Amino acid sequence: MKIVISILGSTGSIGTTTLKIIKKKRASFLINTLSANSNYNIICSQIKEFNPKNFVIKNVTIFKKVKAKFKNKRVKILNDYNKLNNYKKKNDITVSAVPGIAGLEPTLKFIKSSKKMLLANKESIICGWNLIKSLSRKNKTILVPIDSEHFSIKKILDKHNYKDIKKIYITASGGPFLNLPIKYFKNIKPINAIRHPKWKMGKKISVDSATLMNKILELIEAHKLFNFDYNKYKIIIHPQSLVHAIVKLKNGLTEFLYHEPDMIIPIANAIFDSKVDIDNFYKTNKINEEINKLEFYPVNAKRFPVIKLIPKMNKFISTPIIINAANEILIDNFLKRKISFNSISNYLFAVLRDKDYKKYAIQKPNNLKSIYKIDSWSRKTTLNLIT
Ligand code: NDP
Ligand code: MG
Repeated sequence: MKIVISILGSTGSIGTTTLKIIKKKRASFLINTLSANSNYNIICSQIKEFNPKNFVIKNVTIFKKVKAKFKNKRVKILNDYNKLNNYKKKNDITVSAVPGIAGLEPTLKFIKSSKKMLLANKESIICGWNLIKSLSRKNKTILVPIDSEHFSIKKILDKHNYKDIKKIYITASGGPFLNLPIKYFKNIKPINAIRHPKWKMGKKISVDSATLMNKILELIEAHKLFNFDYNKYKIIIHPQSLVHAIVKLKNGLTEFLYHEPDMIIPIANAIFDSKVDIDNFYKTNKINEEINKLEFYPVNAKRFPVIKLIPKMNKFISTPIIINAANEILIDNFLKRKISFNSISNYLFAVLRDKDYKKYAIQKPNNLKSIYKIDSWSRKTTLNLIT
């Protein structure tokens, strides 16, 4: 039996890594739906190479162009997930890897039609966890976080009783500016911020790694996924990006999970339920040289001011949605060179000081409409601040 798989965000970093795995075991997979936004060349080459049943393309101009190019081919080119005619057909696996809150709606749609959902898109967990959780329960969909830290934390937690957990450390590489003198931060350009020293990732998450916002988002993600209080978690700097989870137990033992910094490892393990020989996909023998220097140290709040957002996280139910939306706007404007790197954290705190902040932060995110209302307020407020 072939594994029927769909990938939301197939042209991105997570999407192409997943397709690398599929390519090596081509005969085992049947590709149902791929989706992307605007990368015409990669969309066309994925249609030719992987022969998906459907390709959903968000950008209308690119959608029309691709549709015209493949008009005689069997593949269905669509602009809207709702038009998928095999929507009721169960996918064995769907990988959710559209960045930002834009990934939430397709994730919810595919939970209904998938047996197992691999969640890379942390922003949809942050904003829509209640919806994701209840829909997956209703449809008996297995949820597997594939953000490397959460995949690793879950692997350790699955072996223990939750009441035996004392502390969970979330490791941060520190990004490209871990050792840059702070006086030079004012000169940081997008080109510097998207060059991560350890991981090859999309632009948004790379900038989030440079500001440490990625870890703040991951802290919220862990809080939602594993349901421990925020004070059970601690973010620590680990420049080698080799230990992805550290879980301290009440019995005095601490468990680490180590793997090399390549997303192919958590993704392949999630696809094959850890019954996989990683040598099929990834060759390395770095372990001996790198295990000699595993460093861990506390976060410097001067270098990474966003760390001071943590105490604010617990105050109101929808603070995470507001922080996430403001951050999306700020990264977008930083990448367009409209705001400076240093101002990203200043604006985040400014949004939380807005006179209407509490009014929106206390609203319950019970459905998509209420999530979007809170998200839109935060986007509008952030845009007003920067323009
Ligand atoms: P990329 O920017 O590399 O890729 C994004 C993908 O989503 C592309 O296929 C893009 O299409 C598509 N896309 C963007 N916007 C839309 C939209 N509105 N509708 C449909 N498709 C869209 O991102 P990453 O792969 O790096 O990250 C994806 C998610 O996974 C993020 O939430 C990130 O936080 C998370 N993650 C990523 C990790 C990594 O190593 N990269 C690690 C852990 C988590 P197109 O190319 O056509 O624009
Ligand atoms: Mg991560």
